[in-house]
Amino acid sequence: MTAHSTALVVGGGISGLVCAYSLRKAGVEALLLEASARPGGVIRSERRDGFLLEWGPQTFAGTAPLRQLCRELGIEGELLEAPRKAPRFVLTGGVLREVPLSPPAFFASSLFSAGTKWSILRDVFGTSHPPEQDESIAAFVRRKFSAELLEKLVGPFVSGIYAGDPEQLSLRGAFPQLHEAEKSAGSVIRGMIRSAKTTNAPRERPALLTFREGNETLTRRLAENLGDALRCSAEVIAIQRRTKGSVEGYEVCLSAAGRDETLEVDHLIVAAPTNAAAELLRQIGAGFEDALQGIPYAPVAVVSLGYRKNAVGNALDGFGFLVPRSAGLEILGSVWNSSLFPGRAPEGHALLTSFVGGTTNPQTVARSAGELSSLVHREIAPLLDVKEAPVFSNVEIYQRAIPQYNLGHGERLAALEALRAKYPGLWLVGNYLRGPAIGACVEQALAVAREISA
Ligand SMILES: Cc1cc2nc3c(=O)[nH]c(=O)nc-3n(C[C@H](O)[C@H](O)[C@H](O)COP(=O)(O)OP(=O)(O)OC[C@H]3O[C@@H](n4cnc5c(N)ncnc54)[C@H](O)[C@@H]3O)c2cc1C
Repeated sequence: MTAHSTALVVGGGISGLVCAYSLRKAGVEALLLEASARPGGVIRSERRDGFLLEWGPQTFAGTAPLRQLCRELGIEGELLEAPRKAPRFVLTGGVLREVPLSPPAFFASSLFSAGTKWSILRDVFGTSHPPEQDESIAAFVRRKFSAELLEKLVGPFVSGIYAGDPEQLSLRGAFPQLHEAEKSAGSVIRGMIRSAKTTNAPRERPALLTFREGNETLTRRLAENLGDALRCSAEVIAIQRRTKGSVEGYEVCLSAAGRDETLEVDHLIVAAPTNAAAELLRQIGAGFEDALQGIPYAPVAVVSLGYRKNAVGNALDGFGFLVPRSAGLEILGSVWNSSLFPGRAPEGHALLTSFVGGTTNPQTVARSAGELSSLVHREIAPLLDVKEAPVFSNVEIYQRAIPQYNLGHGERLAALEALRAKYPGLWLVGNYLRGPAIGACVEQALAVAREISA
């Protein structure tokens, strides 16, 4: 007899783990299948030679739902907050300059010209309207502010989050709140202030967090909580629709330990990246594949280097730095892990994690791990006054790291949602839908679980 479960979640990254956890908390019988041997997806922390490595995300924004989840899971006490005032740097003219983070600091900073400062005032006191058609982040910043702001700040910031190209990324897709602010108030800044006043959102930006033993604490605890409801090394290989009387559902074929098994489910929640989701969903409907494969991903290599502290001339007092593409370097930016959180490096050492590749330099990730370590050391050494080779190195290469919310993303999502709505009991969660950040994945997974259990 074929086994039955009310709900099945495919993919045990943060999206799938939270969805399965939340369904079970609401009393819905839910199973989670993860193809690889460990849960967590791209969230992975590992201690090696005294260094605590983050293979994927380095920190996450402590949004209210995420903090609430940590409280429920009993791991709130494990959270560490990055110093809120830690300066961020940007490479300009060959040197690292501090990014002004408050309005007074912005107007006092010599990083920006009078023209860029004036463009901010023009937004605050003037009125503008966004174009009807989708607009790239680059076009938006040039239209509203200045090419200089794009070059020195917004471009590097966008590569820091999306490893993406601001000429391709859609403002509406990637930063919908900025588009809405201009649309509703005729000014980005007035609109943002108004929306902060009218929503219950906390006044302060959420702090950047991690856990004492790394980000994987969250996914590990979710996995522990799921217990037998989570099966790792269990890959979903085929799905088909099934109808029993008036009840619609899905028959799912999975492969585990070299054996195929079949499962009947009423709700199928696909929490896998678009390539895997497309492979499964094309089996039940034409159109899914095109819609899903239309969302490109940026390739990224994460390179963690450990140095003797005495060998680094720079005080490393801050969060890290971002690199504008015009600087001609291959690194996108660097996070100074051991300056932000305790226990990231052995006594007398520093751990720095740099990112290379992205949509603007995709060919970089074709190099070997050794070449990538050397490249990063070569590029950061003169910037940080590093006098010795690293004593430790770890490289993780993702051919498909971060989904790109490029021009037309909104239409692609609308087409996908229209298609999905034709399949009762089918749900999609994941980082390609409503934001790639961990907090956005959590919120989306919670929302889908709420809808299913309502
Ligand atoms: C290098 C990097 C840096 C990042 N930095 C940050 C950061 O600083 N802050 C932040 O908030 N976010 C960051 N992110 C983004 C964030 O980490 C991810 O968007 C998020 O973790 C994705 O979670 P997910 O569950 O949607 O997908 P994934 O983590 O990709 O999980 C999907 C899972 O599905 C499984 N799967 C696939 N196919 C099948 C199948 N057929 N059957 C069963 N299982 C299957 C996969 O094995 C995988 O485990 C970063 C991401 C990367 C890659």
